[in-house]
Amino acid sequence: MLPKYSFIVPIYNEEETIQEMYRRISQVMNRMDGEVELCLVNDGSRDRSLQMMRELHQKDPRVVYLSLARNFGHQIAVTAGLNFVRGKVIVILDADLQDPPELIPDMVEKWRQGYKIVYAQRIQRRQEGWFKRFTAYAFYRILKNLADVDIPTDTGDFCLLDRQVVDVLNAMPERNRYIRGLRAWVGFNQIAIKFERDPRFAGEVKYTFRKSLALAINGLVSFSKVPLQLSTYMGFFAALLSLFMCVMVLYWRLVQPHSSLTGMAIILMAIFFIGGVQLFSIGILGEYIGRIYEEVKQRPLYTLAEVAGFYEDYAERQK
Ligand code: UDP
Ligand code: MG
Repeated sequence: MLPKYSFIVPIYNEEETIQEMYRRISQVMNRMDGEVELCLVNDGSRDRSLQMMRELHQKDPRVVYLSLARNFGHQIAVTAGLNFVRGKVIVILDADLQDPPELIPDMVEKWRQGYKIVYAQRIQRRQEGWFKRFTAYAFYRILKNLADVDIPTDTGDFCLLDRQVVDVLNAMPERNRYIRGLRAWVGFNQIAIKFERDPRFAGEVKYTFRKSLALAINGLVSFSKVPLQLSTYMGFFAALLSLFMCVMVLYWRLVQPHSSLTGMAIILMAIFFIGGVQLFSIGILGEYIGRIYEEVKQRPLYTLAEVAGFYEDYAERQK
């Protein structure tokens, strides 16, 4: 029988959290009013995570899993999960218990009231460093101002999605997946549930600064064309400035020929300024062109190394 609920948990080197995560999530699973499947997605972990997932699957048939052939990143891992799960109601949550599973029944309650998307919005981040809090705060606000769709601030990927939404997400061909943005883009009745984000249960943060920055740039570039227009504005500004400089230089030449300001310094400044503006603009162009390149290559989003539990005959069908 197909499950009514599917929980998706991406896992990257989470051996310290898996047991506790399973314990807390299974308590919630037992309380649900229908069949639940817990879909674990191994995102190329290098520790014992996959082994532990296999054991859980053996012990509890409600646990199904996918294993990607390498680390493809959080967003792609979740995407893989979305492609495979079968439930009518789908919940995405992190493995580190920063997204409390106990909130799921409340989310389901909202779903019953007719909301197709229920996303969890953090009102507080406990024990996360000031740098992470500050950059996240700034990023969500910049994104909100620049993005074409209204992407709610301070929401992560912790959310409940109706099957209808997941079908739309699965039909989206784009390779650069910023799920929070895509989720907002889809539309439908959406509602936020506020929660306090707990500290990570155990282990290191898997989102390194580099990964977070890449996610932020991806979010901006995928959902806004403002950066492209930025180079137009900057070019315009630079042109104005240079016009002004031309007038000044002429003035110094003709009216004050002994002024010391006409020397090297001003030329160097102008060159560096224009050079900076140009490189910056080319960089922005590059971000967009790189994404176009990714899209036209049409590579699959991920490679699967192992699938267990979804279809009894999956192994058969692979032969
Ligand atoms: N994760 C993943 N692939 C990655 C990085 C992270 O699947 O390359 C998973 C990780 O196991 C966790 C979730 O994504 O379940 C969120 O990661 P983390 O808690 O490190 O980041 P946070 O969102 O708390 O900054
Ligand atoms: Mg976390």
